[in-house]
Amino acid sequence: MAFSIDRALVWFRRDLRADDNAALHQALLAAREVWCVFVFDRDILDPLPVRDRRVEFIHDSLTELDRDLADLGARHGRPGVRLIAVHDRAVIAIPALARALRVQAVFANHDDEPASLARDASVQESLGAADIALRTWKDHVVFERSEVLTAAGTPFTVFTPYKNAWLRKLEPFHLEAYPVASHASGLAPLDPADLPAGFVAGPPGLETMGFERTNLRELGIRPGVTGARQLLEDFLDRIDDYDQTRNFPAVKGPSYLSVHLRFGTVSVRELARIGWQRAGRQTASAGAASTGGQVWLSELIWRDFYHQVLHHHPRVVAHSFKPEYDRLAWEDGPQAEGLFLAWQQGRTGYPLVDAAMAQINQTGYMHNRLRMVTASFLTKDLGLDWRWGEAYFARQLNDYDLAANNGGWQWAASTGCDAQPYFRIFNPVTQSKKFDPQGAFIRRYLPQLAALPDDAIHAPWQAPPPVLLSAGLELGRDYPEPVVQHDQARQRTLARYGVV
Ligand code: FAD
Repeated sequence: MAFSIDRALVWFRRDLRADDNAALHQALLAAREVWCVFVFDRDILDPLPVRDRRVEFIHDSLTELDRDLADLGARHGRPGVRLIAVHDRAVIAIPALARALRVQAVFANHDDEPASLARDASVQESLGAADIALRTWKDHVVFERSEVLTAAGTPFTVFTPYKNAWLRKLEPFHLEAYPVASHASGLAPLDPADLPAGFVAGPPGLETMGFERTNLRELGIRPGVTGARQLLEDFLDRIDDYDQTRNFPAVKGPSYLSVHLRFGTVSVRELARIGWQRAGRQTASAGAASTGGQVWLSELIWRDFYHQVLHHHPRVVAHSFKPEYDRLAWEDGPQAEGLFLAWQQGRTGYPLVDAAMAQINQTGYMHNRLRMVTASFLTKDLGLDWRWGEAYFARQLNDYDLAANNGGWQWAASTGCDAQPYFRIFNPVTQSKKFDPQGAFIRRYLPQLAALPDDAIHAPWQAPPPVLLSAGLELGRDYPEPVVQHDQARQRTLARYGVV
């Protein structure tokens, strides 16, 4: 095999798997000796609370990645392969390690969030000063950046034509895996003597980095590729019904793979391949086409869509996609802050909203239908700036992803590129009756309402006093009165948006 360089370093970021990994594959093709590293980046971690499920998820996924790399090496005649890890600032650590290992290039997969691009530019500059290249690859999405454009060569801002163009462009080639095992003899055993101070073999203990374990394990969230594999296998039995089940939070309808997609413990190519086959779009596919598969593939395309929106319009991080909506006068002051706290803590008096907030607070996950309902409630019932809600979700969600979260919030607030029209305002009670008809989801997260009959659980303040009494519920004591009246809030929202 003809290698173009002798020594390379693979820098893992949001791609925590040893197989079907573009950067690892490319490094093994290019270099005779390949080391692997992960940086617990202080620039990201230092502001986080001591207990953060994502840090634990990453940590435990890396323990598995370390083992997988060691196994791969051992099976290919290279015992002693390890994942190098460090708790430091990536902008300092990567150039330091690259110099110490005397590599000619660092390989990594694209991360298009503005802060990550700035970090990578800084790393590239430091590496360049030592004559070391930074080579980056697409891995996190199927199509990125400017790969899918309109006929006029401009980025899409509306989803449906984007999706159609995405599907037209897709060839089996785009979904092929990047094999690693067949090149794994290039994985280099680690000699700890080569490591600069602070670097270790395998992830350092969570406690060493100042973090504590969370309820991740109790929740049954399994990190790593084994966790992703387990969820995927479970979902494959249900994928054909996805279109029917995905909107009902009490039903096990979606895949729950978002946290794995976020941290790359599953390959999006593999998932899209499955969706595409089930959707019957791949001519080689023998099975019958399934609407569930089609709709699920569409969701993966939404993911690509929001990533390319962020790439082409990084100003959405702080601004409305439609600039005129930055003129909206959101509620402000102590009363608004009080309402914001009630929303965060699930004390709005609207059971579906409150149960959804209990779900995100207790588990770090929220069902997609409920993300839409709670985001709509914050912006259009409480009149609060979508950026407040976006920031709260960013702190709470295990699967927090800037592109998808920003896209979802701007969709719900009607400020986004292909958002719902501002006059379409979810009624939280109607949503509740439609998507949680028996109140099964509400009962799970709001046990104080469990004894209410189905027809009273969606709007307890409308229930006759004897119904409340026999359910042992006193409004204001056991559960709040609604913090706003939806019909009045609706009028205020129409007026607020109407001036833009
Ligand atoms: P499934 O229904 O099984 O979907 C499969 C995958 O498709 C998901 O894992 C996800 O990667 C992708 N996907 C599905 N829906 C969307 C969507 N609307 N936009 C982009 N990608 C999608 N998703 C995140 O991954 N991170 C976020 O921070 C995030 N924030 C959101 C905020 C709001 C206000 C809204 C309305 C949506 C947000 N979403 C976010 C999208 C969606 O809610 C989640 O991806 C989904 O609920 C994750 O559950 P799942 O893995 O079971 O999804």
